[in-house]
Amino acid sequence: MKLEQELERYFGYATFRDGQKEIVSSLLQKKDVVAMLPTGTGKSICYQLPALLSEGVTIVISPLLSLMEDQVQQLRSEGIKSVVALNSFMKKEEREFVLQNLHVYKLIYLSPEMLQAFFVRKQLSRMKISFFVVDEAHCISQWGPDFRPDYLRLGAVKELLGHPTCLAITATATKVVQKDISSQLMLESPTSIIYSVDRPEISYRVESCPTTQDKVERIKDLVKILQGPGMIYFSSRMWAENISHLLKQARIGRVAYYHGGLSTEDRLLIQQQFMNGQIDIICCTSAFGMGINKKNIRFVIHFHYPVDIESYVQEVGRAARDGDPSEAILLYCEEDRGLVNLLIEREQLTDDQLQQILHAIQKIERLDNKAVKELIAQFWIQEITWRKLCFQLESRGILKNERIHPFSIDSVFTSIRQEEQERMQVKRLKLETFLRWIRSNTCRREKLLSYFGDKLKHHPNECCDNCGATLTKAKMDSNIIGTGTIHPWRETLVKLFGQSESENYEKTT
Ligand code: ADP
Repeated sequence: MKLEQELERYFGYATFRDGQKEIVSSLLQKKDVVAMLPTGTGKSICYQLPALLSEGVTIVISPLLSLMEDQVQQLRSEGIKSVVALNSFMKKEEREFVLQNLHVYKLIYLSPEMLQAFFVRKQLSRMKISFFVVDEAHCISQWGPDFRPDYLRLGAVKELLGHPTCLAITATATKVVQKDISSQLMLESPTSIIYSVDRPEISYRVESCPTTQDKVERIKDLVKILQGPGMIYFSSRMWAENISHLLKQARIGRVAYYHGGLSTEDRLLIQQQFMNGQIDIICCTSAFGMGINKKNIRFVIHFHYPVDIESYVQEVGRAARDGDPSEAILLYCEEDRGLVNLLIEREQLTDDQLQQILHAIQKIERLDNKAVKELIAQFWIQEITWRKLCFQLESRGILKNERIHPFSIDSVFTSIRQEEQERMQVKRLKLETFLRWIRSNTCRREKLLSYFGDKLKHHPNECCDNCGATLTKAKMDSNIIGTGTIHPWRETLVKLFGQSESENYEKTT
């Protein structure tokens, strides 16, 4: 079988991009694969093509609903109809219909949480599964920002499903995380297909701003000189909203904000408008982005910096998918240190919380959905924190099939605390590494690559600020620059920010 012909037949592309053919061939030879390809290079085809060329069904585990829906829509628009995304937002009847008819599909997208449902696993275990794909496989790493406790259970589920050939694919995984992925998924001497995370068309730049106010001023300047469309990342929902209002008031293009606090409809609408070119600048939190396949994003600005290099690379990686030059600009301000520390610590339960939850759990026999909802509401904890705790209880044999087995509060408390402290330590170290990158005065690209165990082969012309790249080449774009009168934005600022932001930090889930 000539793979290029099949690629052309199904997707209309004449040639494979770097890494794609190797991955497709290995999977077709039934070899487990751990793959790392830079964002935007076409990871999906690596499993979609083998899925279409093999008997049986391919299961794709994907962490985000929007990502799944996007992929399903895209495949359907390419004429590939035998694909479905099974998720918790589906109506019950619709989900049951799909589950009863799984055999008609070639590709089934699932969230890791959905895969935990007994009925889903039972139905899947009756099928012939050709490939088990774990997309965004770095979510398996307990040390990463996108850690999803349910990813840790995927290895066991894969075995239950008869040990199908597995592809674990990501755009950002250090060597340690690559190893972690292999062992968690119980892969058998997997083929490693690791490509450089380098994105030569993205120029890196860090600008130091003495105060937050200076950052706001700089944002206004930047969006005037940069060509759009673009994204501005914030760590707080309130800041995303406020800067979006400010830019709108200053008549700077078509601006919108996006964060996890918006309704699902609003989120989908804004995402769609941005994709369709009806919005030029999106002020967002980390809730926006994963799976966004907009090709012409020309700049990604970080108003707040994320907690580690992996997150940064993921976020700036949304730019330049069409291969044209783009800017990644991070506005650094000492004042942000508190915010970033909060981000790191927010998933942690306090000692009191942990004690109280353990006491509450000890009194429960069965941890069913109702009990879970009540506990989450009672202790005001995030869904991700809860899922992590469940995993910790499961791995200590306390929670099994929703049943709580007897345990000693003191010893469980101590061991979970210790585990959490180690996790925090790693997170702090990662933040320190990122801060060193921010403050460094040598080539930023080289440093990013070396973090992933990679070496830079050559510096592109517009490499980074430390290599002499400037913003002067950024073209003016009439779509973005405001044509109205200049707004008295200093007054607006005072009005907008004369309030506390402490309660507005983004939740990751
Ligand atoms: P990733 O998951 O790596 O971010 P996607 O799988 O969403 O990227 O693909 C990014 C874009 O590249 C998509 O628009 C896709 O259709 C396109 N693409 C993928 N493979 C090829 C190829 N071999 N030739 C041309 N375009 C491709």
